[in-house]
This record gives sequence, C-alpha cells and structure tokens, in this order.
Amino acid sequence: MKPAPFAYCRPDSVAEAVEVLASSESSRVLAGGQSLIPAMNFRLTDVSVLVDIRAIAGLDSVTVDADGVTVGAAATQSRVLADAGAARAVPGLRAALRHVGHLQIRNRGTVCGSLAHADPAAELPALAVATDARIRVTGPGGRREIAARDFFCGPFWTALEDGELVTEAWFPATRPDSVTVVDELARRAGDFAVAGLVAMIDASDGAVRTSRLVGFGVGGAPLRLGSAEAALAGWSAGRPTADIEQAAAADCADAFDDIHATSWYRREAVAALVLRAARTALAAKEQL
Ligand SMILES: Cc1cc2nc3c(=O)[nH]c(=O)nc-3n(C[C@H](O)[C@H](O)[C@H](O)COP(=O)(O)OP(=O)(O)OC[C@H]3O[C@@H](n4cnc5c(N)ncnc54)[C@H](O)[C@@H]3O)c2cc1C
Repeated sequence: MKPAPFAYCRPDSVAEAVEVLASSESSRVLAGGQSLIPAMNFRLTDVSVLVDIRAIAGLDSVTVDADGVTVGAAATQSRVLADAGAARAVPGLRAALRHVGHLQIRNRGTVCGSLAHADPAAELPALAVATDARIRVTGPGGRREIAARDFFCGPFWTALEDGELVTEAWFPATRPDSVTVVDELARRAGDFAVAGLVAMIDASDGAVRTSRLVGFGVGGAPLRLGSAEAALAGWSAGRPTADIEQAAAADCADAFDDIHATSWYRREAVAALVLRAARTALAAKEQL
C-alpha cells in the first residue's frame, strides 16, 4: 500500500523541529524510517507532517567519555555498533545491536528512534532500562531528561509529550567487573525477539553476586525481573536452579500470548535465558 498524503519538512535546528512538531497533533519525527514508513504504508499511523531530523547539525554524534556514551538522535544503529569506544564503555550497546534486524535496517535505523518507538520486543529499550540510561528531550516547554525506567509506559507508548523530540540518549559506563549479556529467542536471526533478556551480572569466586535483569518481548514494556535477581544472588554453576526458574516465571506472570508463542512459552523462555546468562557471565569471569 501507499501512505496517505502528508507534508514533509527537513529543519536545520532542534528549535525549528519542535516548532513544526508542536504545530500539528499528527506531525511525527522521521529518524531512520525503519518502523515509521512501513506503518505509514500500511496506514496504521496517521501522519500530517513528517519532520525529518537528519539534517540537524550535530544530531548524529556518538560521544564517549569516562561517564558513558551519548548517542545523538540521528546516529544510526550501524554507527554505534561500529564504535569501539562505545562498545568498551557500554558493552551492552554492541551486544544488543547485534540482534537488531539486519545490516540494511541498522544502516538507517537509529538508536533513539528505537527508544522513541518503544516496541515491546525491541532490545534497546530493555538495555536502556538495564543500564539506567537517561533520555534527553526538547519540546515546547524546554529541555528535560527522563530516566529510562520512567520513559517506557506500554506498547509503543512513551513518556514523550506532544511536540517533544528525543535529542539524545545517555548510557552510563558499565563497571569493568560487570558482565553484560543480551540474549533472545527469535524465529530467525534478525527477527524481533519472541522473548529476550538483558542481563548485567556481577560475579566473583565462581558465584553470582548481584544482577540487573530486564526482559523484553514478554510484557508491554521492558520488564525488570526483581524476583529472579533476588533468587540468582549467590548462585553458582551446578547448584539447583528451580528457585531461579520459578522466580523468573513469576516475574513474567503477565506475559502475553500471540501467534508466535503462548504466555507459558515466554515464561519458560525467559527463565532459560536467565540461567544461560548467569552461566555465560560466570564463564566470562573465569577467563578474566
Ligand atoms: C525487517 C525489520 C526488522 C527489524 N528488526 C528489529 C529487531 O530485531 N529489533 C529491533 O529493536 N528493531 C527492529 N526493527 C526496527 C528498527 O530497529 C527501527 O530502526 C527502529 O525501531 C526505529 O528506528 P528508526 O530510526 O528507523 O525510527 P523511525 O522509523 O523513523 O521512527 C519510529 C517512531 O519513533 C519516532 N521517533 C523516531 N525518532 C524520534 C526522536 N528522536 N524523537 C521523538 N520521536 C522519534 C517516530 O516519530 C516514529 O513514531 C526492524 C525493522 C525492520 C523493518
């Protein structure tokens, strides 16, 4: 199908973009277009004005410093994936991006576009929650910063208000002794996950000490697995796993059914991914 008629503008500045966004309720930011354009073609999204942010100077930057990685709104997923400094500071960025679609999609799709789109099965929103990322936005009321845990409200629904634009996302540097694992079950490589997990695990002396576990593809938004985190503390390979599996399944009690998997399957999948991540993290620590 073809999209319904729409107007297109390519502003030079964030201020101009915000002005156009605020002028019409159904104006939308165009970043990589990898989710928005198909939705427009299928007429699932009603857009009056497309505000293409790719000509705004500086918005495609990726900045790495001792505190973390700042990804501008027009920085493509491929650019971030290729950035060795970003991968050293926040290993989860590269680990998550390897699962996102295919090369062609990552060459156009942006990291911030994925956050703003808030697909419940997407890897980057879960990574943002796991790492305590901050989403920086500008709108008619000025600038503000939103913690990732408060940003994702439900399927394709964020804390962005009318006329607001994500300008950048900041991911804090991961502690060097923490192991990040991004793992998922998908029907084919490059497909959206049926169920997935971002795990940040601290381990020592062959046992898990603390962990940060965030599931994706199992709820309407990234899901923090608090019970599984508690059950995993002190676990080492070879010890019983039933408590951890039960805790992870309980965290995913509201997992949804769809044509790809039942809610039961998703609960089982996440429990298996938690154990797999713990084993991977313990093995990685042994090799250090
Ligand atoms: C075949 C295929 C497979 C894919 N597989 C995966 C996958 O496995 N995992 C995954 O996570 N994604 C996947 N994607 C989606 C891809 O990652 C998209 O690039 C991403 O979801 C959206 O980024 P974008 O830059 O293309 O945003 P766009 O499509 O341009 O925009 C998406 C939405 O976000 C809004 N938006 C974008 N940027 C901003 C901003 N700066 N401020 C405010 N609102 C903004 C837009 O208005 C729109 O509503 C896939 C896409 C395709 C086509």
